[in-house]
Amino acid sequence: MNKHNLAGIGMTSQRTRTRLVNRLRDKGIKEESVLSAIESTPRHIFIDEAMAHRAYEDTALPIGMGQTISQPYIVARMTEILVDSGIMGSVLEIGTGCGYQTSILSQVSFQVYTIERIRVLQKRAIERFKALELNNVTHKHGDGFKGWQQYAPFDAIIVTAAPDNVPPALVEQLAIGGRMVIPVTQPSSNQELLLLEKTEDGMTQISVESVKFVPLLSGTL
Ligand code: SAH
Repeated sequence: MNKHNLAGIGMTSQRTRTRLVNRLRDKGIKEESVLSAIESTPRHIFIDEAMAHRAYEDTALPIGMGQTISQPYIVARMTEILVDSGIMGSVLEIGTGCGYQTSILSQVSFQVYTIERIRVLQKRAIERFKALELNNVTHKHGDGFKGWQQYAPFDAIIVTAAPDNVPPALVEQLAIGGRMVIPVTQPSSNQELLLLEKTEDGMTQISVESVKFVPLLSGTL
């Protein structure tokens, strides 16, 4: 990945990225720190070169191993919800995938911890973190159902694949006053993006919107 690839040209240029940010504003994203992170992050380096020309469409795209890079609107929405809490010291991300969401988080928080269960995807993501010189991302290959006890509690937790229930370990590892955004598959098989907040007395929960994520799976590959 050379400097030329990072900056992008034509369909991957800065102008194209700015257009994407304008579309996200139209769709209701307001948080400037998130919009500015998206504007400055070359999404085209997170996907296959053959598909790079589609990098700034507001759509999910395949990243190999049956997984996807999330739609920019969803990345923006989930990040905005966390940033709104005002405390973004440490963030735990479950499902590194290609690392795009991680890169956005790294620009709006102090430290990001990210876990991916598929080793080949994780390796490629690490290369991108290096190319972008992100120095506040700690990553591991593992099963995100267990969270990352060593660095808990986290101010925020973001899960980018959908379980059937909120994993108890993640609730435990959330700080008091902390927020978690997580897509959960309902018995109807629809998925709802949930916002959980941990209080002194327990958890509060609100439903944000309907979403479509790949499943959260246990074990590693
Ligand atoms: N955050 C990514 C989204 C990747 S898709 C982005 O920016 O686009 C979701 C990812 O979650 C996949 O790479 C999948 O392998 C991973 N995943 C699924 N179950 C997991 C688990 N139990 N632990 C860690 N990662 C998991």
